[in-house]
Amino acid sequence: MADDQDAALLARLASLRQHQQGGRRSPHKPLLVLLALGQLATAGSSELPWSQAQARLSDLIAEFGPLTRTSRAQSAAYPFTRLRSDGIWVLDQDVPMDAVRPLSTHHVVGRFEDSLEAALRHDPTLVQSAARAMVESHFPPTVAPDVLTAVGLDPNLVLHAADVVPDPSGNAERRRDPRWRTAVLQAWDRQCAFCGFDGQFLGASVGLEAAHVRWFAFDGPDSLDNALALCVLHHKLFDLGALGLDASARVLVSAAFTTRTDAGQALYDLHGRALRPRPGTPLPATEHLTRHQREVFKGQPLIA
Ligand SMILES: [Zn+2]
Repeated sequence: MADDQDAALLARLASLRQHQQGGRRSPHKPLLVLLALGQLATAGSSELPWSQAQARLSDLIAEFGPLTRTSRAQSAAYPFTRLRSDGIWVLDQDVPMDAVRPLSTHHVVGRFEDSLEAALRHDPTLVQSAARAMVESHFPPTVAPDVLTAVGLDPNLVLHAADVVPDPSGNAERRRDPRWRTAVLQAWDRQCAFCGFDGQFLGASVGLEAAHVRWFAFDGPDSLDNALALCVLHHKLFDLGALGLDASARVLVSAAFTTRTDAGQALYDLHGRALRPRPGTPLPATEHLTRHQREVFKGQPLIA
């Protein structure tokens, strides 16, 4: 790093790379940091009036966070007030933690703390690096580009930014194993475990990916009992929580998923379908299924 001051700033950001609290996904603060980084990159300042932040942040939390019973405004007020205690975020007025009403009545404005704001403005590549650290610690590769686009950042720049924000969990040092994809596709006979898609183009599988049931970003192991071969569509819907698996590894479709066409309605037909791995391939382990259902799957399953 350029100097000690920058290193200290990055260490403060790095504490937000802790991707879980008490075993639960906790993307609220990282989503606010990403929103503020996007604001800085597009408007030249991280300043976010509550009136704007409330709608944008609650949209981000609803789309990319775990299912929550709290109201939209409350889920946005939580990071907007609590990020102050991490030493990187300030509000222009002193308001209580978590309270929605004072944020609205006093027209509160939030922004990065002065020295962090100055460092990020001074070195725009730091904005990209900070965004990369946040998004990769909290979201799988299928979802990360969507998160970045939603906050106004360019995924092509961010996902290739230098890795300068330390990772206290040590997760960043864990490399993805390139042989894993091949092993997973073979184990599932080179077809989507949900729909059976097995397209080949010029002799190679196309549109098929190896998916972690418990996300790699959440310490999901590269083991066959945490893996599925999925077509790109079903991989994305599985990582967004529109598709899930019950305790017996039957496919769940979220009742929150809607569609108007025959092509889209094909998804409903997957509901209740049992996975049929080839002999010797394990079904996903219960602990990984439970994790996905609790942390990723969204809404009630369709009525079978
Ligand atoms: Zn599929």
